[in-house]
Amino acid sequence: MTLTPQQRAYLTTMGITIWADQSAPEVVAPERSVQIPPTVSSQVNKQSPDIGKMDWTELANQVSSCTACELHASRTQAVFGVGSQQADLMFVGEAPGADEDRLGEPFVGRAGQLLNEMLRAIGLQRQAVYIANILKCRPPNNRDPKPEEAQQCVPYLYRQIELVQPRLIVAVGRIAAQRLLNTDAALSTLRNKVHVLPETQTPFIVTYHPAYLLRSPLEKRKAWQDLLFVKKTLNSIN
Ligand code: URA
Repeated sequence: MTLTPQQRAYLTTMGITIWADQSAPEVVAPERSVQIPPTVSSQVNKQSPDIGKMDWTELANQVSSCTACELHASRTQAVFGVGSQQADLMFVGEAPGADEDRLGEPFVGRAGQLLNEMLRAIGLQRQAVYIANILKCRPPNNRDPKPEEAQQCVPYLYRQIELVQPRLIVAVGRIAAQRLLNTDAALSTLRNKVHVLPETQTPFIVTYHPAYLLRSPLEKRKAWQDLLFVKKTLNSIN
């Protein structure tokens, strides 16, 4: 990938020094599934068995009034998702933090700013992708999601995926990756591969969470490799 001056500037903002041409990892061309099973988002949620039939408005209303797990009691508001409903690329994080809970939009805090820079570094605007989380409500003190919370909430995400039909999903962070791929493998072994999301057969790539990158800036170089891999994979999917 040849970097434009603007992309070089974004990489500098991300804290990445450009030494030479970046070589991206090998792309394993994934099969694109055109058939999405209609029932995956209708699984588990005890409050609303019909999630799989909902349109965007119904789904957003259901999420904002959801009381299927204990997190509804401590939220300021549910955080649905944001971006293009026709996006080719979808980013999935773990759960809203304090800023997201306050503002009602995913990835709007410091980690979100870095995610925006990462997107710009590969030539994408935030509005051109779709961004959502596994959990729609903030866990107190940003603790990890409990299995039963993720189980109740993930059908909303599956329905978002069914409605957007992205060509590629990027899981940011270990928790999102492990939950969606149903594995306890380390993030380091999940990176740099094209997985397939079992429920929707969507190609799926894993990278670091921007909050982790803020704490471990030396890893930004690997995240940049991941982003190049995302871009190459996306270009290879018809
Ligand atoms: N971290 C996440 O995983 N999601 C957000 O929306 C914000 C921070």
